[in-house]
Amino acid sequence: MSWSIPIFRAGGILVRIHVTFLLLLAWLAFSYYSQGGSAVAAARVGFILLLFACVLLHEFGHAIAAKAFGINTPDITLLPIGGLARLERMPEKPSQELIVALAGPAVNVVIALALFAVVGFRGVLDTGTVEAPSMLTKLMVINVWLVLFNLLPAFPMDGGRVLRALLATRLNYARATQIAATIGQGCAFIFGFIGLFPGNYMLIFIALFIYIGASQEAAVAQMRDVSRGMPVSSAMVRDFRSLPARATLYEAVDALLASSQRDFPVLGEDGSVTGVLLRNDLIAALRKDDQSIRVGDVMHRDVPTVTAGTPFDEAFRMMQEADCPALPVLDGMGRLVGVLTTENVTELMMVHAAMPRRRWAFPAKPPPLPA
Ligand SMILES: [Zn+2]
Repeated sequence: MSWSIPIFRAGGILVRIHVTFLLLLAWLAFSYYSQGGSAVAAARVGFILLLFACVLLHEFGHAIAAKAFGINTPDITLLPIGGLARLERMPEKPSQELIVALAGPAVNVVIALALFAVVGFRGVLDTGTVEAPSMLTKLMVINVWLVLFNLLPAFPMDGGRVLRALLATRLNYARATQIAATIGQGCAFIFGFIGLFPGNYMLIFIALFIYIGASQEAAVAQMRDVSRGMPVSSAMVRDFRSLPARATLYEAVDALLASSQRDFPVLGEDGSVTGVLLRNDLIAALRKDDQSIRVGDVMHRDVPTVTAGTPFDEAFRMMQEADCPALPVLDGMGRLVGVLTTENVTELMMVHAAMPRRRWAFPAKPPPLPA
């Protein structure tokens, strides 16, 4: 996500904060300060940071569960409306999606129970008395809210994913997504309406987020359904250039400039595919200004190859897993006959639906901030 500032990396996951979140914090700090001075401002902003730490742990819950199924999470972004863990791909089985979706709220259940163990019954009962509840009590209550709110069946929130997973055990994936998305959009309308009342404005943003997210995911599920069974040959580029592994970087630049092609299959001495030269790698190598570097030295190795008959969705998954924007397509004899690029995939998706930029995300919404 653009406009996000990397903060730290934990277990291979980059945690980032969106600029709007920092702006919101600054604005809240300023308004608290003008209301009650620096001590009040520090305490309240500190509380919001603790709240978002709980949201972050929630997202790590999703990421750890996904990791158990071999799915990596490249980054988690904190937004004013909550956290967003970007999973590398979707869990294949409904049972896996169910576990990944539940893992986030489960973290907040654990936090709430741990805080309950600390503050005990007395702390909870104090909430209603004249004395203001302690910060830990408030944090515990807010974690309970996080669980309840995220489990509302508002796809693509966690509860909506649970619903989709349960539906997908009976129906096909696209149909299950469509039903979950429709229910999610219904929830978005209700949130949006409640958000019109003073003090609930944050709900309007959440409603928008859910509405757009639900539409996008429904479109992706439809794309998957449409492209299932479609072969790679229906989307691949047939008119392309390849480069020999011993070509110089300057020859590669010539090829890059002479066409609209960004990535080039690289052929070894025997004419077989040995890798793919990516435009970014080529540009990075040019910076070294070393005449002896050859295309074979900087190309992307370990690139999976597909055949023209490989099902499209399978090729797309291989492309994501290999993190390579271009796959060589071979014929039955092992000869290079085409290239499948992410642009081809995008075009195919656009034919069927608006192109969603984020394929899979687990948002966690905190309840609206206390006024
Ligand atoms: Zn979640």
